[in-house]
Amino acid sequence: MKKILLVILGIIVILAAILLIKTYTYPFKKNMADAGEGWKPVKNDSAILRLSGGIKIPTVSTGSLGEFDYAPFARFKEYLKISYPLVYQHAENVEVNQYGLVFRLKGSNPALEPILFLAHMDVVPPGDADIKNKEDNIFKPDDTPLSPVIKVAEDWDYAPFSGAVANGRIYGRGAIDMKGMLFSLMESMNNLIRNKQIQQRDIYLAFGFDEEVGGQKGAMQIAGYFKKKGLKFDAVYDEGGLIMRKGNVAGIDSDVAVVGCAEKGFLSAKIKVKGLGGHSSMPPMESAIGKAAVIMKRLEDDQMKPMITPLIKEFFDNIGGAMPFTSRLAIANQWLLRPLLLSKLTKNNTTNALVRTTTALTMMKGSDGTNVLSPEVEFVVNFRLLPGNTVKDVREHIARATKGFDVEVEEIDNTREASGISPIHTKAFKMIEAGVKEIHPGAIVTPYLTMAGTDAGKYEIVSKNVYRFMPIKITSAEQQSIHSTNEYLSIENYMKMIHYFEYIMKNYDK
Ligand SMILES: [Zn+2]
Repeated sequence: MKKILLVILGIIVILAAILLIKTYTYPFKKNMADAGEGWKPVKNDSAILRLSGGIKIPTVSTGSLGEFDYAPFARFKEYLKISYPLVYQHAENVEVNQYGLVFRLKGSNPALEPILFLAHMDVVPPGDADIKNKEDNIFKPDDTPLSPVIKVAEDWDYAPFSGAVANGRIYGRGAIDMKGMLFSLMESMNNLIRNKQIQQRDIYLAFGFDEEVGGQKGAMQIAGYFKKKGLKFDAVYDEGGLIMRKGNVAGIDSDVAVVGCAEKGFLSAKIKVKGLGGHSSMPPMESAIGKAAVIMKRLEDDQMKPMITPLIKEFFDNIGGAMPFTSRLAIANQWLLRPLLLSKLTKNNTTNALVRTTTALTMMKGSDGTNVLSPEVEFVVNFRLLPGNTVKDVREHIARATKGFDVEVEEIDNTREASGISPIHTKAFKMIEAGVKEIHPGAIVTPYLTMAGTDAGKYEIVSKNVYRFMPIKITSAEQQSIHSTNEYLSIENYMKMIHYFEYIMKNYDK
């Protein structure tokens, strides 16, 4: 008996030793938290004014695809022309589908594959009150772009289309998403031209105009245009990741630059459940609502299986070094602790979304009367697909959850597969690391999975190196302002973003 106990004790000691050794020798990326401040921004007032003026033009994409008001888009196009005459003189520019804009700054070596920087000029409406439809908030079309008359909407420090410059910030809808980046790109290209710095590769900029409603008329057409010309890009850079300020990623003691190397897919299914209707005074044993409830419960209880994909493994290898001991232990010992790690990750909404195809019940409809049994109940379930799961997998999953019930399943919105995964051992990715190091040397740079859809995915037909990242350092609260209220871009972030893009453009072949 004593012998057995000793053996068990021995095994435990050996196991603990292995776990510890693995934890301390695991190749986590080194954390450069004390690397200093990096490039010091110099305030450029004219660049600030140009962005501010661009924010004043309410290029809102809303409602049905392509049914929004295009007048502001036409003005925005004109505004860019006036603001960046050098770019228009020295770079080739093409309009795709009227409002899509492409610029090409020719390089000296046509044998090299070009690089492409993306942005979109459309923005979401400024808030719950659709300002454009409010009588007293009408944007006067005869105003110059620099002086729109829009009154302050509640919850905004400054009106959403004021482009107000105050408190070291530039305020307005689109400041972060994503006119800030669009103007940074124009500024960078403008600087290269002004300083006569011709690079080896062709540098392209491409701006869509309907990203917020799916990008079918903008990015999709531009990507098609490139494809038709036979272009292949060595790098495609779009939005979809940020630099999270230290203290804003739970458990990580550092700034973290997350670079989207893939994005999740999308499937929304409207499920109609049939039952017996009638009056609530003589109800059938089973109502349509009761049946729908069973299906919904199945969908929530038995979700798509979580998994640690190679991309997420890479993510943890990069940030793990800055995490507390228990997390490092679990990451370094997945051979034994993977189930434990997964169960921990799936208990948090943010990390859960990184390791599985998520399930969200979003809408539901029964009868309109308090005493009326509806013969049909419908609800909507939205899945965001993890790369590794396919649309076919999700369809089978829905079929399992609805088994035994009389249902009709209809996919609404645009179903799309998760994107491919862009490699990280590329020059294109290394340039992001170098660029971040230039402006925020202390930040950990890591590949990541972008949750929302962007224009980037449409460019997979012209490049295998597609990265989603906007080089601005923000807090979670500032991140929340995107698509919400009081969106602003700090002047420091704007100046650094211009420098970052200029750095990448200038150093790509150095
Ligand atoms: Zn955006």
